[in-house]
Amino acid sequence: MKYSSLVEVYEKIESTSKRLEKTYHISNLLKKTPDEDLQTIILLIRGRLYPDWDKRKIGVASKLVLKAINASSGAGINKIEQLWREIGDLGLVADRVIKTKSQSTLFSAKLTVAKVFSNLRRLNDMEGAGSVDRKVQLISELLSSADEKEAKYIVRTVLEDLRVGIGDGTLRDAIVWAYLPIDVKYNPENVSIDVDREKYNEIVNIVQSAYDKSNDFSTVAIAARKGVSELKKVGLIPGKPVKVMLAQKVLSVDGGFEKVGVPAELEYKYDGFRMQIHKSEGKITIFTRRLEEVTKQFPEVVKCINEHVKGESFIIDCEAVGYDSKTGKYLVFQHVSQRIKRKHNIQELAAKLPVELNIFDILYYNGEVLLDVPFEERRKLLEKIVSEKQSEIILAKKLVTSDKKVALKFYEESVEKGNEGIMLKSLKSVYKPGSRVGFMVKLKSQMDTLDLVIVGAEWGEGKRSGWLTSFSLACIDEDGNYLETGKVGTGVKEKEEEGLSFGELTKMLEPHIKQESGRAVVIKPEIVLEIKFEEIQKSPTYSSGYALRFPRVIQVREDRAPEECSTIEMVKEAFNNQKKT
Ligand code: AMP
Repeated sequence: MKYSSLVEVYEKIESTSKRLEKTYHISNLLKKTPDEDLQTIILLIRGRLYPDWDKRKIGVASKLVLKAINASSGAGINKIEQLWREIGDLGLVADRVIKTKSQSTLFSAKLTVAKVFSNLRRLNDMEGAGSVDRKVQLISELLSSADEKEAKYIVRTVLEDLRVGIGDGTLRDAIVWAYLPIDVKYNPENVSIDVDREKYNEIVNIVQSAYDKSNDFSTVAIAARKGVSELKKVGLIPGKPVKVMLAQKVLSVDGGFEKVGVPAELEYKYDGFRMQIHKSEGKITIFTRRLEEVTKQFPEVVKCINEHVKGESFIIDCEAVGYDSKTGKYLVFQHVSQRIKRKHNIQELAAKLPVELNIFDILYYNGEVLLDVPFEERRKLLEKIVSEKQSEIILAKKLVTSDKKVALKFYEESVEKGNEGIMLKSLKSVYKPGSRVGFMVKLKSQMDTLDLVIVGAEWGEGKRSGWLTSFSLACIDEDGNYLETGKVGTGVKEKEEEGLSFGELTKMLEPHIKQESGRAVVIKPEIVLEIKFEEIQKSPTYSSGYALRFPRVIQVREDRAPEECSTIEMVKEAFNNQKKT
């Protein structure tokens, strides 16, 4: 397939913010994509090279792309840099300079989707001496054969910043429209569809469920093209991470009972980080909730699981809570988060900051998928296969009740022990990967916080010069667009020994700087901060329509991917909840 067919669709999608229109264009592209290019198209349409469960990044710096544009267009580095400063998007810069390139060198070879994908994938494999030059060569080879629009999207894909918002929901629906037996009539005049709603929702749910289990839209699209029965076969594979089930929030025990029904299972809500632990063919693999593999960082967990969980193969869900090896006291996430990042002296850190596993769910056991097995039975199975050992591995402390007074006592007991609150879970519910469906809800003790992504900052002045300060924060909408909610500086320290510092944050953010003008810096959404605030107000100043008042940084959430930050719905909900109280 020609790369230009894909570029045509990028251009159409970029020019609209309407979800149905995007879905329409993507579904048309999918219909005409040959089988051999399907996997590639599904990835490239969102500017990706790897499926969601594979965390490899291209990791090419803007400077290197600049060189490639220079090599392929003949435009001088200074001119390219100047244009970049003016336009702020290297993709558009490439578009501009390649447009003015002499026609004779153009179109020497028509680019195919497969060629672009293969060159880009090779970028990631390259390391060591000469690799920078080879990378420049791989990119400029593509740019030399590209017309200006192709160049624009090649550059943006290399920089992992496609600037074409396509959310999971849009891609899922496009797969439904393209391949599944349902007649969807799209009306371009009023951007609407005519469809048998009931049947449509049923099919959308089947596709969503296949995605939640596989975390891989290519697998889903390939199966969908073969039909509904193939799609239903897409299942969990131990060793490959699955999206975790998420919790809704409630404000009272009554609200919790109402959501999950009675009797309900209440559990302590531990304040650590989520771990999904797989065993397959004798091998243990550990993933965080953002589906990053962290097996190497937790050797003691591997050992503990081997010794204390019976079974040939399984996927279990738990909260790992760090504690101080000297005092035995639980530590907040901030301390333990070091373990997720650590690449060296792992054993030493493991001895200093051990974790206790609090097991609360199981998704797969000895070849059987347990997603549709009622929660109370999944818990019973856990009780059979896990042999508890204090401070290493325990089942989440539970209580089954319909009684509000008993529940409140359990809640107080949990908070007194240093936990965040309690979870309330429906006994009969299935496990829905990736969903916040309300089969489990959380009741927290403290004022709630939001997890927001840094999308901008300012270079500091005076004693803060050299540091990024005043961080712009954003939540996310369902199409994956980041919407600003205000700025924060409070809570970040000048001295490193006092906690999260400007120096530390600057180091984390610098590789993600997209654009600078004066002191203002635009940053690629990568780093998630947990933010406390006094109040939320409606505000026309920020693109979310809301502004946080007196925000304060609590900590960096290394375990959250940017797309997992708080949604605009959560911000609205927090706004509405405060009005009631
Ligand atoms: P939140 O991170 O505030 O959305 O709360 C949900 C998180 O609480 C889950 O993702 C888990 O990481 C954590 N958690 C702690 N204890 C439990 C438990 N007993 N059951 C389920 N999740 C728990």
